[in-house]
Amino acid sequence: MIEVRELTKRYGSSVAVDGLSFQVRPGTVTGFLGPNGAGKSTTMRVLLGLDAPTSGDALVNGRRYREMRRPMVEVGALLDANAVHGGRNAIDHLRWMARSNRIPVSRVAAVLEQVGLAGVARKRVGGFSLGMRQRLGIAAALLGDPGVLLFDEPVNGLDPDGVRWIRELMRSLAGEGRTVLISSHLMSEMALTADRLIVIGKGRLIADTSVRELAERF
Ligand code: ADP
Ligand code: ADP
Repeated sequence: MIEVRELTKRYGSSVAVDGLSFQVRPGTVTGFLGPNGAGKSTTMRVLLGLDAPTSGDALVNGRRYREMRRPMVEVGALLDANAVHGGRNAIDHLRWMARSNRIPVSRVAAVLEQVGLAGVARKRVGGFSLGMRQRLGIAAALLGDPGVLLFDEPVNGLDPDGVRWIRELMRSLAGEGRTVLISSHLMSEMALTADRLIVIGKGRLIADTSVRELAERF
């Protein structure tokens, strides 16, 4: 369960998120839709404790990220796939993450298999394509087997096969009862992937609706 309550985030005099409230329920894929600069990444960064709110709150399972004892077990995230350190291979990268979060190292092989990277697990991440980096970032998000997942623009720059793969993965994660929030600026893609849509613009809520209800109005 994700709860954003009256969240405002200012950077100096500019407002990135402006009194935003919404909830994301378990067992759904919720599309977080809005044009570039709408405040999607900022909201996710606050949910992940990477940025402090100016006012309001952003909670996962009723807690702030920084108050969680084992955050990676509660919430997994893909933010910027290019942020992965290029010098390591995929296994070492994930083992390091598992160790520093007290997650059993046996999870590493499981998540590499799940994202289809088992065959390149010993290759340097620096040589990975964007699609492979996205998969590695998703493997890291899944490492702690978390019930809540945040994906920031995961289909950006992917080919149609990669887009379809992500869509099916999101559906299956929600099918297992997880809470999935996926940001995008692509309405058409979210209509195919999501059950619900949270639409924002200039940091404010524009719509909070089920995709089915929306489709029935056309
Ligand atoms: P989105 O993810 O929807 O594209 P962002 O959350 O990245 O939107 O950005 C929302 C607004 O906040 C934008 O105007 C952006 O320039 C601004 N912003 C985001 N992060 C920072 C930052 N660290 N410092 C200053 N302004 C920022
Ligand atoms: P980190 O990931 O280490 O927090 P960022 O890459 O988010 O760092 O930000 C680095 C610097 O760039 C920040 O000081 C911020 O002011 C600026 N910045 C980041 N994103 C934006 C943005 N979207 N608009 C304007 N300034 C930004």
